[in-house]
Amino acid sequence: MIILDGKKISNDIKDEIAEEVKKIKAKGEKVPHLAAIIVGNDGASLTYVGSKVRACERVGFESTLVQLSNTISEVELLDTIEELNSDDNIDGFIVQLPLPDQIDEQKVLLAVNPDKDVDGFHPMNFGRMALDMSTFIPATPFGILELFDRYGVETSGKHTVVIGRSHIVGRPMSILMGRKGFPGNSTVTLTHSRTKNIEDITRQADIIITALGIPEFLKADMVKEGVTVVDVGITRVPDVSKKRGYKITGDVDFESVSKKASYITPVPGGVGPMTIAMLLKNTLLARERHSNKS
Ligand code: NAP
Repeated sequence: MIILDGKKISNDIKDEIAEEVKKIKAKGEKVPHLAAIIVGNDGASLTYVGSKVRACERVGFESTLVQLSNTISEVELLDTIEELNSDDNIDGFIVQLPLPDQIDEQKVLLAVNPDKDVDGFHPMNFGRMALDMSTFIPATPFGILELFDRYGVETSGKHTVVIGRSHIVGRPMSILMGRKGFPGNSTVTLTHSRTKNIEDITRQADIIITALGIPEFLKADMVKEGVTVVDVGITRVPDVSKKRGYKITGDVDFESVSKKASYITPVPGGVGPMTIAMLLKNTLLARERHSNKS
């Protein structure tokens, strides 16, 4: 069994990006600049955004954090997005999800300039991804492809089962795994909460990607020997033995499933750090596109 070590690979990617930033600086050009909008005080969202800002510092990017109140109106948020869209100093930005109930998430995603949409959530970028055109691939699926690539995990002709059909992970992952090329060329089954007898489907899978948010959902008796398992799930489970009062748990019962797997990602230290590294990669790409236009 080989651990798909997202912590190590993400550090490798950050080192590579830091090298690129050094070259940009040496040419006297502007370094990439990522901005993040966060609405409210949700603990998990603040943690994620904090990690993204720290990652920018680590590779030498500029970063801007825009913190807005939980009671902000949709119009005010759209105005802030417009400011970032027209700010030439910002190469890319993200709006941390989820958003409060008074705000229509789709309107927000549509308002982001597709050229600065480093999360790859805008319909224009999502459509380009589905049509094999160059685009910003959403960071979490992009990170999973990168793990397959760097570990040489064969995906061609394999049966890939994706669990979860969210717009940010499961759905794009299912599209990407079925695309022509490597990683890709898989035969894909996309499953969700209405899927019947899911264990019959997962037992046939060569590759399983779980993104549902139910701790330890995937058990050893649901997988075949030699399976590759990628666990996207991050759930805070109460744990009094921890100082912070919770532990981070994935969607996979790692203890039992890892005994049958040929490759598996741990939680934490698997997909999570890869997501941040690929956001940086998308920001570097946005900066290149930006400077080619100006
Ligand atoms: P989500 O929007 O929370 O949706 C969950 C998906 O799982 C839905 O499609 C749902 O089906 C499906 N589902 C729920 N119960 C199921 C069941 N019993 N059997 C099969 N499918 C079931 O998904 P998400 O935003 O992608 O998040 C999923 C998990 O990944 C969460 O733990 C989240 O924190 C984590 N996450 C991690 C990263 C990272 O960087 N590692 C990034 C993003 C998300 P329906 O569509 O039918 O409701």
